[in-house]
Amino acid sequence: MPVIESTRPATRWTTRIIPLILIASVSYATYALVGRACSRFLINQRGEVGTAIAILVLYFLFLLLMVSTYLRAVTTVLLDPGISPLGPQAIQRRERAKERRKQGNRGSDIESQRYYGSPDPDPDSPGLEQFYTKDVFVCENDGRPKWCSECSNWKADRAHHSSEIDRCVYRMDHYCPWVGGMIGENSFKFFVQFTTYTACYCALVLGAVASSLRKQVNEGSSIDPHFIPAIVLAAFFGLFTFLMTVTSMRYISLNMTNVDMLGSRSKVYQLAVRVPRGTQSTDKFNVVTYPLSKPNPLPNGWYNGMTRTISIRSNGSEPQPNPLPFARDDLATRTFAILKTAPGENPWDLGMWRNWKTVMGTNVFDWILPIRRSPCVNHESYDGFYPMGYVLDNILARYNLTDIAMKDSSGVEMKELGRENRS
Ligand SMILES: [Zn+2]
Repeated sequence: MPVIESTRPATRWTTRIIPLILIASVSYATYALVGRACSRFLINQRGEVGTAIAILVLYFLFLLLMVSTYLRAVTTVLLDPGISPLGPQAIQRRERAKERRKQGNRGSDIESQRYYGSPDPDPDSPGLEQFYTKDVFVCENDGRPKWCSECSNWKADRAHHSSEIDRCVYRMDHYCPWVGGMIGENSFKFFVQFTTYTACYCALVLGAVASSLRKQVNEGSSIDPHFIPAIVLAAFFGLFTFLMTVTSMRYISLNMTNVDMLGSRSKVYQLAVRVPRGTQSTDKFNVVTYPLSKPNPLPNGWYNGMTRTISIRSNGSEPQPNPLPFARDDLATRTFAILKTAPGENPWDLGMWRNWKTVMGTNVFDWILPIRRSPCVNHESYDGFYPMGYVLDNILARYNLTDIAMKDSSGVEMKELGRENRS
């Protein structure tokens, strides 16, 4: 499994040095708290065995949770950060760039700089089907999904291109040098658990060492030289991780990410929402029908761009063009209304409790242990890439589509593809 690292050498080196700083800090905190405050001061000098044992039990509990969530977060961001696949053009482009680097050519030719800025014009573009088999997806004005020119592929809802790792990341949050990679939907839960346990760990070190220092000051005994550096370290990392935890908890409660927050008050999302076949565009919205129609037929009955889909027969007979689009796709045709959210509306907001469960899991063990990934990493539902709730209902109501969206022409929910009830 390839390791996903930053494309910038300076960042790569930073992420390699940081674990050493963390190990040194934790080792020092352990020496100051376990060796000096608990063992030497509380137990040997003052005989407060009960207090020392209580502190030690909590200390090793938080240490264990902190280390395990850290390792889970680091391995996830390096090995499986949740990135979307590259399109064929991007794969070829990157292979050519790698080849040139091997040959010592820094890529002065035009080919090395070419980016496929505009979306794939092919109506049967690979990957499109993953969008129009769902009931809702984020789209552009023409009803097609967003396109990533760097990855040469369609962008899933809430996926963003990270220039740091040069890939599109699902539900991208931020690049974290402390865990050495991109925090996205696969790692966000472990990241939050890590910052929470680290804040608790630092609070314990800070409280226990500061309390020992206060006793020494009050009694006029000599002050342990390791207490003040330990307090400074614990206060620094404690404050930092506490603020990260508070911010992350806020994002979880709102079902937002760092990226979603940028300009969130004025952000407008455009959604393709499935409506019954035959629904026409109105002055309020346009519709798009998938599979997209092919260009006009040529005089010989063939279609432009058809050669791509023709297969060479093994018996050597003449290849035949695919059947006409309406015959080919009639049953699989799906129509979508292109709707806009109000500025600042977050279509994925499900209310605080459901927002929490989509990231942190459905039970207490999921919340506290870094074992299972967030439920929101599962994109197999035909409803959409991520669940939607009351906000989508509000949008449909504004467009007077409540009675027909995601229902067939007789008003029955289109459940043939396993749609679950959204409420
Ligand atoms: Zn991308």
